[in-house]
Amino acid sequence: MPASDGALSDYQWKRDLRKTPEPGEGDVEFDWAEERPIFVIQKHDASSLHYDFRIEVDGVLKSWAVPKGPSTDPRDRRLAIPTEDHPLQYADFEGVIPEDEYGGGAVLIWDRGSYRNLKEDEAEQGEEPRSVARQIEDGHVTIWLEGQKLCGGYALIRTGSGDDARWLLIKMKDDRADARRNPTGTEPASVATGRTIEEIAREEGGRP
Ligand code: MN
Repeated sequence: MPASDGALSDYQWKRDLRKTPEPGEGDVEFDWAEERPIFVIQKHDASSLHYDFRIEVDGVLKSWAVPKGPSTDPRDRRLAIPTEDHPLQYADFEGVIPEDEYGGGAVLIWDRGSYRNLKEDEAEQGEEPRSVARQIEDGHVTIWLEGQKLCGGYALIRTGSGDDARWLLIKMKDDRADARRNPTGTEPASVATGRTIEEIAREEGGRP
């Protein structure tokens, strides 16, 4: 797996935008999210399959590549490799990135929805909760996802420092934790179109 697969050129994502009817410049709307901020998890069949976990922070999608994808079992610690920020509009991208481009391959919208900063629950009355941007700087993020497949608390935690720094994506212990579920295995289809990654590759792979 490349160290960062988020290096989509400006040209690429602008090209991708032309395929989707809605998004324009300025304020972005997502009819699939009741609230903001949003999150999206894109299954990406690049040279090495992974799941791009993206959360809206200050107008961009902060992104991590998770080789094994998210788990609903709090005992699992899933490696999450920070990748480049993506534009908000990229949350609606499903299709095929040309093979000759860095990080090429089929992309499927595996899950999406809104999320909530769990630090809001901990803040004392009148106290400003620690922002998610600040939590990323601190290497300890706790958020509540409201997706179609994933719900509940998730933590993104940085361990080690310098070259040894690693991020982990971990399901928090709450009533949405479920060690028996294996959603990446049993629920592979796109929440946007119902397609599998093979169907996306087949249907859109020939696009010039
Ligand atoms: Mn990717």
